[in-house]
Amino acid sequence: METKLSLLSRKEQFQQLFPSEPSYRWKQIETAFFDGHANGWQDVQTLPKSVREGVEQEILWMTVETEQVYDSKQSQTFKAILKTRDGLFFETVLMENRTGQWTICVSSQIGCAMRCSFCATGTMGLKRSLLSDEIVDQYRFWMSFLKARPEISQRISNVVFMGMGEPMANYENVKQAIRMWLTYTDIGSTHITVSTVGILTQLDRLLTDPDWPSVRIAISLHSANQEKRREIIPTTVDDFLVKLADWSHRYAETLGNRKHHVTYEYLLLNKVNDGLDEAKELAQFIRSTSSGKINVIPYNPVPDKPFERSQRECIDQFKNILVLAGLDVTERRSMGNDIAAACGQLVTTKKNVQERS
Ligand code: SAH
Repeated sequence: METKLSLLSRKEQFQQLFPSEPSYRWKQIETAFFDGHANGWQDVQTLPKSVREGVEQEILWMTVETEQVYDSKQSQTFKAILKTRDGLFFETVLMENRTGQWTICVSSQIGCAMRCSFCATGTMGLKRSLLSDEIVDQYRFWMSFLKARPEISQRISNVVFMGMGEPMANYENVKQAIRMWLTYTDIGSTHITVSTVGILTQLDRLLTDPDWPSVRIAISLHSANQEKRREIIPTTVDDFLVKLADWSHRYAETLGNRKHHVTYEYLLLNKVNDGLDEAKELAQFIRSTSSGKINVIPYNPVPDKPFERSQRECIDQFKNILVLAGLDVTERRSMGNDIAAACGQLVTTKKNVQERS
């Protein structure tokens, strides 16, 4: 039997249960969530016994349960399927990064409403947004996963919102989760990246939000041609590219510093958006924005989708044009292909998630 989902956050539940407890009490609890010593409420020795027993009965130590963990044979990558209290499944990934530490790829929603044509998650539609505790607990899940494996590096140094869902369509919960990590873990704000399809109203919102943390933003561009982008990404609004370039300048003016820079992601789809003219069009667009950073992504083919990965030669030529245009180009490494762990390609092998949710 599934337990009913509480829409209250753990903090709100605590405040309802213990309205007269001092405010530092909840901070003690949040500290225990992240200090790596406690495996459950019983280990939170800073709490008086009566409080500990009360929270043990009523508040979840972990809002997600482990359904399955996959281990990639090709690279140091793990993928977990987690289960929410209302019986839904979603994925999160742990990948070794260039510093030998770990990057976690987190989901912000179960499914996604954006329906990008190439994306596996989009085929599910949107089931629901994740609560901030469920986002936070993806980090805590991997923290205890690593703790159980003392032979490997323990440190999670980066978080990317590149799992299931559109983080800007779950703005408040994503923001709360990030603020929690920034307060209680040693992850710096420049080591957290929110990847978005580019919901302009939400991008505008963060410009005037004093609580928006100084994390990195990555925009999934995938085409610098308005019509083509709309074919690939159906949520593309009229004049998207012009409006996005305008936003990028306002972003740089309002928040611009080393911490707040924007990267443009460009997924290369064979013979769809990987031509030399498209590279030139992209270079021209990027020059009209406030940033010069492009992250080129080789496509991880999704079953039943009519797209293929671009040829290596083509990827190199495409990148070369951007480099010659003076742009800062990086290419995303493919990780854990054998366990379908690549970011943005989460879930949806039928066996794994869809049929069970
Ligand atoms: N909704 C957010 C997060 C999506 S996943 C966004 O649109 O940015 C993060 C990145 O992976 C996005 O750039 C997305 O377009 C890309 N992606 C999705 N499916 C992919 C696939 N099969 N192969 C490679 N990248 C993919």
